[in-house]
Amino acid sequence: MRYVYSFDHKHRRPPMEHKDLLGGKGANLAEMSSVLKLPVPPGFTVTTDACRAYMESGWPSDIDDEIARHVAELEATMGRSLGDANDPLLVSVRSGARISMPGMMDTVLNLGLNDKSVKGLAKVTGSKRFAYDSYRRFIAMYANVVMGADADAFEARLADARSATGAATDADIPADALVSLCTDYKKLAKEQTGKAFPQDPYKQLRGAIEAVFASWNGARAVAYRVRENIEHTLGTAVNVQTMVFGNRDERSGTGVGFTRNASTGENKPYGDFLVNAQGEDVVAGIRNTQNLDDMKEVFPEVYDELLDIFVRLERHYTDMCDTEFTIEQGKLWMLQTRIGKRTGVAALKMAVDMTKGTGKGADRWKITREEALQRVTADHLDAVLHPQFDTSGEVVATGLGASPGAAVGAVYFNADDAADAADRGEEVILVRNETSPEDVHGMMVAEGILTVRGGLVSHAAVVARGWGTPAVVGAEAIKIDGKQFTVGSVTVREGDVISLDGSTGEVVVGAMHTADAEPPEEFEILLGWADKVRKGKLAVRANADSGDDAANARRLGAEGIGLCRTEHMFLAPDRLPVVRRMILADTEEEEAAALDELRTVQQADFEEVLEAMDGLPVTIRLLDPPLHEFLPSVEELKIKQASGGLSDQERRELAAAEAWSEHNPMLGTRGVRLGVIKPGLYAMQVRALLDAAAALRKRKKHPIVEIMIPLTVTREELALARSWVQTEVDSALKGMKNKPDITIGTMIETPRAAVRADEIAEAADFFSFGTNDLTQLTFGFSRDDVESRMMPAYLDQGLLKRNPFDTIDQTGVGDLVRLGVERGRSTKKKLKMGVCGEHGGDPESIDLFYRAGLDYVSCSPYRVPIARLSAAQAVI
Ligand code: PEP
Ligand code: MG
Repeated sequence: MRYVYSFDHKHRRPPMEHKDLLGGKGANLAEMSSVLKLPVPPGFTVTTDACRAYMESGWPSDIDDEIARHVAELEATMGRSLGDANDPLLVSVRSGARISMPGMMDTVLNLGLNDKSVKGLAKVTGSKRFAYDSYRRFIAMYANVVMGADADAFEARLADARSATGAATDADIPADALVSLCTDYKKLAKEQTGKAFPQDPYKQLRGAIEAVFASWNGARAVAYRVRENIEHTLGTAVNVQTMVFGNRDERSGTGVGFTRNASTGENKPYGDFLVNAQGEDVVAGIRNTQNLDDMKEVFPEVYDELLDIFVRLERHYTDMCDTEFTIEQGKLWMLQTRIGKRTGVAALKMAVDMTKGTGKGADRWKITREEALQRVTADHLDAVLHPQFDTSGEVVATGLGASPGAAVGAVYFNADDAADAADRGEEVILVRNETSPEDVHGMMVAEGILTVRGGLVSHAAVVARGWGTPAVVGAEAIKIDGKQFTVGSVTVREGDVISLDGSTGEVVVGAMHTADAEPPEEFEILLGWADKVRKGKLAVRANADSGDDAANARRLGAEGIGLCRTEHMFLAPDRLPVVRRMILADTEEEEAAALDELRTVQQADFEEVLEAMDGLPVTIRLLDPPLHEFLPSVEELKIKQASGGLSDQERRELAAAEAWSEHNPMLGTRGVRLGVIKPGLYAMQVRALLDAAAALRKRKKHPIVEIMIPLTVTREELALARSWVQTEVDSALKGMKNKPDITIGTMIETPRAAVRADEIAEAADFFSFGTNDLTQLTFGFSRDDVESRMMPAYLDQGLLKRNPFDTIDQTGVGDLVRLGVERGRSTKKKLKMGVCGEHGGDPESIDLFYRAGLDYVSCSPYRVPIARLSAAQAVI
């Protein structure tokens, strides 16, 4: 197998297409050298194949010869050789994975210097100081990143040298002091690592390449891959490149440049540079950099050449590029380029701008609308839809980013206290171990929600996402103790201010500054294009449970409601006592009276939702969760019983809560099973819904009602539930001319339902895949527990590639969806099908749903724009 390619190797396909093999940096260096013929310091790339071979069985035996051959070629090209005592070749060694990855060994500069070649460097540059300054930097860097010595010890020696010579900065340390510092550094490396600093440049090179390979599996790199969903098996490439020196003199310099403004998207080159400096000086921020515009004065010719290169890069990549460059004694060298990262606002602006065309004459280029849509990601949209932190602070805990956006507020530990504080005008963050329906009034007023336990489909996550409230869940490092929490050595008391980032899951103590979300005009333009692309192919609906949410969803582009969870309508503080009365009823009359009261309020709720979505389909799901969720917790009532005694009502509630409580409520009396036990409940809901629709029709509105039965397992139970619904529908529509079309369907959210979808379809007018439960039940992972505790270990160890509650499991759960679609349509060819689990708002999952043949996806209102874009991307 071939492991090494020079930058100017003639690949059969453009090198850009070989990122898997050459890594991102290597592929772009090759593209610049061999295709664009830009001034790139020569070098070669050791491939990701080599890294994978190394990870599997150590240093590949046949690679040394190949590296030696490439070094010899490089030496011939440059007319200098590694370690030469007169005019040495020096190289940099840099990691370069397919996707750039902080946390990996980054760079070793000046490799090839040793006690002999340093003298050669002094000779050719005419500067002993420069040569020994380069050498001391190399020894420290090599000792640290390759040999594992502690960087601080080297820093301390450098500080000693500064004070001993009375130097104000490193640049003022005289040459002789640098010579002894090099001797000192070599001793220090030996003391710290037990090994001598290698003088042989080939040994140095092998050590550096091996260190890059090993850094692929360093803890920080692994953690980064888990967070960014990057596969652990990819491996990294290593780039060995001739050194050029931006720190040689005042005619030299180094900088970074973007072909357009990466922060605003403005079509104007942007960047920073430093005169007489090496790359690390720019990054380290030791000296204040100058704006790229100033380069016009300092290096006028180089500036023109650089800007010309920017134009060529953009035209070649048809996108904004970022670059690193060095000027050595007046000559410009391009060290790196890649498609540049950008903010959400910039991404939208650039995508739209680039469809209009850039450049003149032969240099003119543009992208299509489809390409523009592919350039924007869900994260870009999130960034313009939700407030973001515009400063950074010390992160004390990290949970799962469950609902995006930034929130700042005073901490409260229960819903009542949170609601009181909000009444006083405070901005609050509700912190709970986990939330339940009882916390809803506190969640409603909170700027942000933080839970210690729970996953992406836990109560807190689902509710927060529905409302667009930022939330972090499953932050297990936090320990709540009464009205305070501790995390490590930090204690946060009730009323203290914290900040949450619901995208990254980060928790910061104190108030961070947030920038308001203000979608730019390109937002609507792009989403309009997206809608055209996906029209008639994949619709986007919202999961919404109230008139306000429905109106919001419609404003964000929803084409109907795919899931109205009616249990959320039972949770309002004025409803809960009535629900409890219904559960506690001793007689049929009492139960009927409570149901009647609920019917009136539910009708009003339904009217609001249907009105907000007038003319668009609304799927109303009949009650799903177990009844004990509507009762106070057994635990809390027992504590109260032990401490102060219970009222009569509370005693009855405790008895009922105990009677209804289940060992595995998620596998218990939920969904249609609840209907089987309490058929009056479903009948009441259907009546309320039909009355609401009738009231709207009277007002010349056009409600489109779809009634959905949850958690079906067999055809027989769906047929039974359908018969109750049908009875109510028939009686409501009796004698009516032009009867409205009311459809009755079911959720497919158990593996059995997916497998037996052909039978279930006999009793259904539509299917909606409930992928939250389908994932829970297929994996046997409790959706409320596994994510915070077990998932990180599974992801770290590569046992799962993705959190399946976040992105649908492509094969297991994905197969069940495909099977369900296929079998359902084998019974009814035109059966309408959608998805309403949280995956309905996830780009990768949307792609799978489209390919599986679903007609629509339904997600929380704030994800609707993302789903519109992702649906278009799936169709393209
Ligand atoms: C589901 O299970 O995917 C679903 C949408 O229902 P819920 O989350 O309410 O259980
Ligand atoms: Mg469900």
